[in-house]
Amino acid sequence: MNTIVMKFGGTSVAGTEKIRNIADIVIKEVKNNKIIVVLSAMAGETNKLQSFLDDFASQYSLESDLVLTSGEQVTIGLLSAQLKNKDIKSIPLLGWQIPIITDDNHEKAKILHIDNKRIEKFFEKNDVIVLAGFQGISLDGEITSLGRGGSDTTAVAIASSVGAERCDIYTDVDGVYTTDPNIDLNAKKIPKMSYEEMLEMASTGSKVLHTRSVELAMKNNLTLQVLSSLTKETGTFIVDEKELIEKEIVSGVSYSKNEAKVTISGILDKPGISAKIFSLMTENNINVDMIVQNISQDGISANITFTISQKDFDLTKSVIEQNRNSLNYKSLSLDKNVAKISVIGMGMMSQAGVAEKMFKTLAKNEINILAISTSEIKISVLIEEKHTNIAVKSLHEAYNL
Ligand code: ADP
Ligand code: ASP
Ligand code: MG
Repeated sequence: MNTIVMKFGGTSVAGTEKIRNIADIVIKEVKNNKIIVVLSAMAGETNKLQSFLDDFASQYSLESDLVLTSGEQVTIGLLSAQLKNKDIKSIPLLGWQIPIITDDNHEKAKILHIDNKRIEKFFEKNDVIVLAGFQGISLDGEITSLGRGGSDTTAVAIASSVGAERCDIYTDVDGVYTTDPNIDLNAKKIPKMSYEEMLEMASTGSKVLHTRSVELAMKNNLTLQVLSSLTKETGTFIVDEKELIEKEIVSGVSYSKNEAKVTISGILDKPGISAKIFSLMTENNINVDMIVQNISQDGISANITFTISQKDFDLTKSVIEQNRNSLNYKSLSLDKNVAKISVIGMGMMSQAGVAEKMFKTLAKNEINILAISTSEIKISVLIEEKHTNIAVKSLHEAYNL
């Protein structure tokens, strides 16, 4: 018998009616397959848990992860109960019961190992394993979470570990679109795309899949399908680049409002200054994305601008301020009102003019570019947040998506 992994996101499990619906979807596959279902918490639940933690200003990661991962315990229990109501042999399991072993980086833990011998044992007496997404256990026995949206990664990791035949990610849209269908009604469903494209889309803000889940699927050459739990339509397949016959020059536009811009002005223009700034960021576990440096008019000092995730805003500010003497800068400014807009496509590697079209389109809409970064198959620009919608829509149109 084949094993298939079916992951259902927050909106698909938001309430008992929805859970009944997914029990029916699961039951259709039970006859011919061993099934591992991976669930998220009900939509909004993890946000609610986070707001309780914020209310206590809790900086205790052990407690934070314990609280944050509790929503999944509810949904797996309910689905398993409903499957049993329908005479399906099912067992609900938390991450530690498999176990899914992670490192101890709370709130962004990485999976180190999955012990699949236990899984075989569970299948001796059950047809369905209902597994809590988003969570694991560290080598020291602490409950960890994989970062927001991390249930996708649980699904891909478990599918890779057991050599699953399929990994289907059920969500509230029926596939991956050329841009977020919730902000541009002209967005079109992409039938098939490469891991690389999906990886760039996810990491630039298309949160339809957790970035690490795509990395892991690519590493293990596991085909993913993103589809809806409400319609019966075929979704989007995410596959190896070799399986794509035609490579779109631009296949999608994504945006992220989760960025903040940091500008340090009047630093000395001499070797070692950037190294010092970015070492500080690394030491404090702050991820830096786009970087722009320019010499100021006096030719002696320089300004450096870079972007960070908004969650690191306060930490970044205090780390730089605490090091004012050694960095010896004139002024520091941080700005949350920015957005990153990216265009992505495999065909970019062989086609010139993609960047030019992007810049011209933004210019025509009087949108100023604050920073630029590129990869082989992606161009990202930083703009003022208020222009996000118009930037996404006009680029979507400019590339005929
Ligand atoms: P789940 O709770 O099922 O994990 P998510 O909210 O994490 O669902 O992901 C689905 C959402 O991703 C959609 O509702 C949509 O707004 C958003 N999204 C962003 N970019 C895209 C895109 N390019 N294609 C499809 N959905 C996208
Ligand atoms: N419940 C978690 C979250 O909201 C994990 C997930 O949904 O993937 O981030
Ligand atoms: Mg998600």
